[in-house]
Amino acid sequence: MRRNVEHPIGDEFLIGYAAGLLPEAYDLMVATAVSLDDDARARLEGFEAMGGALLQEVEVAPLRDDSFDAVMARINGAGRADTVHGDVKTPRPNAVLPQPLREALGGDVDTLRWRGVGMGVKQIVLADSDGEATARLLSIPGGQAMPDHGHVGTEITLVLKGAFLDGDRRYARGDVEVADDAVEHMPVADIGEDCICLVVTDAPLRFNKLIPRIAQRFLNI
Ligand code: ZN
Repeated sequence: MRRNVEHPIGDEFLIGYAAGLLPEAYDLMVATAVSLDDDARARLEGFEAMGGALLQEVEVAPLRDDSFDAVMARINGAGRADTVHGDVKTPRPNAVLPQPLREALGGDVDTLRWRGVGMGVKQIVLADSDGEATARLLSIPGGQAMPDHGHVGTEITLVLKGAFLDGDRRYARGDVEVADDAVEHMPVADIGEDCICLVVTDAPLRFNKLIPRIAQRFLNI
């Protein structure tokens, strides 16, 4: 049994996923988070079981304006279970990346082509077909701080390896942090182990200082 995560993914993302209305990058985030959190998986299955009528009444801010047919097609479950339950069918206890991410990237952390972006930070930007949000894999050296920054849109971070501290909150594997316009922060990776995260952003971040602005151009966020 996997541990219950301390900072689980929110219902609004699970509902959007169940309804099939999230941008592609968010879908990947949800599928990956759920694969690491049995409680979130159960909540998602609950939303999927609710069916279309109830989901239609739930207001979820970041959703696209899709047709009822698209919602119903998604709720009826074509292809969903394969993604979410991938780890159940093909368990790989030693993999760092959960099944949905390995499928999206075509490998695990040690076989992927990382790009250095300064200060020992490496990243892989995932192909973004719908242009509404960007997903990236970030690897941050142990003890390294990310540049202090605010957010124009919403940034969702899922920890896959190691851990980071943001203020007095610690995020470890399976934990999700959501930062929006109101948040300015400087996450710091735990000492002793690289921290690998899946980060999804839906608008360019605005960094607060010149050097981070340059880093931002390298990071393309
Ligand atoms: Zn942030």
